[in-house]
Amino acid sequence: MNYSDFAGTKVSQLGFGLMRLPKTPEGKIDFARGTRMLLRAFEAGVNYFDTAYMYHDGESEVFCGVALSSLPRSSYFLADKMPSWMCHSVADVQTVFQEQLRRCRTDYFDNYLIHSVTRDNVGKIEEYKVYPQLVRLREEGRIRHLGFSFHGDPALLEEMLTKYDGFEFVQLQLNYFDWEYQNAKELHRIVRAHGLPIIVMEPVRGGMLADLSSSANRIFREYGPDYSVASWAIRYAAGLDGVMTVLSGMSDEAQTEDNLRNCSLPPLTEADFRVIDRALAEFRRDTLIPCTGCRYCMECTVGIDIPKIFRLYNDLALRKFRDMKSFLNRYGDLTQAGKDCVSCCVCMTHCPQGIRIPEEMIRIQALYEEHIGK
Ligand code: SF4
Ligand code: SF4
Repeated sequence: MNYSDFAGTKVSQLGFGLMRLPKTPEGKIDFARGTRMLLRAFEAGVNYFDTAYMYHDGESEVFCGVALSSLPRSSYFLADKMPSWMCHSVADVQTVFQEQLRRCRTDYFDNYLIHSVTRDNVGKIEEYKVYPQLVRLREEGRIRHLGFSFHGDPALLEEMLTKYDGFEFVQLQLNYFDWEYQNAKELHRIVRAHGLPIIVMEPVRGGMLADLSSSANRIFREYGPDYSVASWAIRYAAGLDGVMTVLSGMSDEAQTEDNLRNCSLPPLTEADFRVIDRALAEFRRDTLIPCTGCRYCMECTVGIDIPKIFRLYNDLALRKFRDMKSFLNRYGDLTQAGKDCVSCCVCMTHCPQGIRIPEEMIRIQALYEEHIGK
């Protein structure tokens, strides 16, 4: 296991995320199996365990309390998070925190985060005095290190780090796909400019980077037949500047073993990065409409927001067409008032990517019509 330094201690490069634990047929956490996986990871050197109030509907924290009970408390880092959007008063922050300590059977958290800061919920942090209350808990020794996990835009990240200057780390969604697609590169730059270490979440983008398109997977397998497709994503995230640990929500034994192996490998080389670039290009070609969002194609003759429609389609394709309901709702909103493409081709002449826009529009409209009646 590779380690990084954090506040004078060694943190394993692989962190065990406790949000996708194995389940029983009834849908509850399989405590026996999950505990075996967790202890196996600990024996192999993992010392960072990450839970949250709402993971597995609250059962993940209870699982932590049980599964970690056989280990000396000082032998691992336990991370938990405050769901500020679930608070309805200043007092709720304390109530939730105390409940978390009870569920986890501990009297302190090593790392504690304001969970999932976004534009939509950032107001609650101010309204319910979340930050000053957590700082006080840190002074009382209930929290060792304070940070936040983030799902917003670069301007909001900068605001958070400027306004509240006592954070010690930030948790970001970083992976080789989102580096450009979601501008994760800029989020990474901002955190590092503030001199803070980073915890990586979603290094495999919810499983997407464990199984790209068949041609992209083939590129990885030909170059590194002994490595899984997911291993490239884990090693990429672990090798980024300032990364303290990479969280992986492990659901079975095979995934755990693969992750353990990946976090003992040497860093990626220049040749490895070129392989990732090639596989990524192949994946994009196979799966996505190559729209960059430049908006040179606008205005559309009938008022369609072309880049927004393409982004919506790409988001659906990246989820392997699983979240059709959300696509249908959002597509319906975007194309209200009979905004159907009339194939005038005016937009196409402005597209630097050479996208055959009307053909794509007709294809997406057909996908919508196929599913809307179901
Ligand atoms: S081809 Fe379709 S999308 Fe493009 S400008 Fe014409 S109506 Fe709009
Ligand atoms: S011009 Fe092409 S690449 Fe740019 S937003 Fe329009 S469709 Fe996308």
